[in-house]
Amino acid sequence: MSGKGEASPDGKLFLESVLSSVKRAFEIGGMSMDFYELLKVPKRIVTVSVPIKDRKGNIVIYTGFRVQHSDVLGPYKGGIRYHPKVNLDEVTALAMLMTYKCAALSLPFGGAKGGVACDPKTLTVEELERITRRYTHMISNVIGPFVDIPAPDVYTDARVMAWIMDTYSQLMGRQVPEVVTGKPVYLGGSEGREEATGFGAAVVTREACRLLGIPVKGARVAIQGFGNVGSYAALHLASQGAKIVAVSDSKGAIYSKDGLYIERLMSHKKSTGTVLGFPGATQISEHELLQLDVDILIPAAIEGVITKEVAERVKAKIITEGANGPTTSEGSLVLQERGVFVIPDILASAGGVTGSYFEWVQNLQREHWPREVVLNKIEEKMVKSFNDMTNEMKKLEVGPRDALMVLSVSRISTAIQSLGIWP
Ligand code: NAD
Repeated sequence: MSGKGEASPDGKLFLESVLSSVKRAFEIGGMSMDFYELLKVPKRIVTVSVPIKDRKGNIVIYTGFRVQHSDVLGPYKGGIRYHPKVNLDEVTALAMLMTYKCAALSLPFGGAKGGVACDPKTLTVEELERITRRYTHMISNVIGPFVDIPAPDVYTDARVMAWIMDTYSQLMGRQVPEVVTGKPVYLGGSEGREEATGFGAAVVTREACRLLGIPVKGARVAIQGFGNVGSYAALHLASQGAKIVAVSDSKGAIYSKDGLYIERLMSHKKSTGTVLGFPGATQISEHELLQLDVDILIPAAIEGVITKEVAERVKAKIITEGANGPTTSEGSLVLQERGVFVIPDILASAGGVTGSYFEWVQNLQREHWPREVVLNKIEEKMVKSFNDMTNEMKKLEVGPRDALMVLSVSRISTAIQSLGIWP
């Protein structure tokens, strides 16, 4: 047996940190604390057993989750994560972030998240497919195109989304591409969706540079996590002339004073499985990467990496939270005191769900839009939210995270207020 998804101290801390920033927003915005109590608990939590036969014919049981936090503003929406450390607190925190992210971007979605506690790096493709299909079957009665629409997250990709779509479609007896987003383009996926989160992170980083008077051309950038989000953020920032001087993955970090050639690094990572060993770059530690003398730092890997201690040593002027929850609540306060401009995760990593929204709309209308159309629409929404956030910052005299969270929470509170509690 493996992959039990047991409670972890990290998951608990992450959940506490999300709840504390939501509570802060309710207090700053002067909204009813009754609504905070309501939103403190997800509307539905599903825990499922996912048994499969492994490559040797042995039965292995994994644990899967789907947490549906709030559907006040629309159907639940959120990714599915495959990672050995997936646990209920973490998935709950991520589901909550989705609610606030969708509200911050004014998308007609609520928030959910799913996960299976497994280690994809040790699984064969067949085992991964069996886990995905069985997990989908187990949650099939709580997802659906107008109920809950999953998407990719850490260690899940377009292929996994295709298996989810196919399993759900088989169960329904008809093709239902709109049940999941982040599918391969030839199966109803959207152009631009794969790069959407990194693209969105690059867009808001450019806006923050504009606000702070830092030219993007020549700006020095360090990125933790060179996966989907990190690599495309790097590519889009490099295309504007920024210098990506350091990146990392789970195996280690690399540095190049003159900037890394991102397209070549993406091929290197694809062929070797790591950024390490990239010609011309030197290896540094993860700690060094987070504390480098750069203009922009993009944590795009996992949660809780910018702790109080790290925050005290960060030299970047802008932090773009490409990952979900990369800064702890203590870290966040230190960064605010030190005047670091932090673009909060609910905006910086929202390009993906915004792209997902446009994929869903295309699927429902049986349309297929060109990449430029999709990216322009994502950019428009991201810039609008960035401007909403900075206006709220001026109005309330607070930092970016508090300002955006207040906006988001007030949109949800207004909806709860007018809907009331039934019966
Ligand atoms: P991914 O699996 O494509 O990439 C994650 C990368 O992080 C990998 O390169 C991995 O090696 C690296 N990594 C893992 N642990 C690390 C560590 N301790 N130090 C340095 N690197 C480490 O995942 P992704 O989709 O890019 O997601 C990254 C983050 O962005 C997650 O927090 C995820 O929730 C968030 N996010 C993703 C999307 C999306 O559309 N993919 C959307 C919104 C938010």
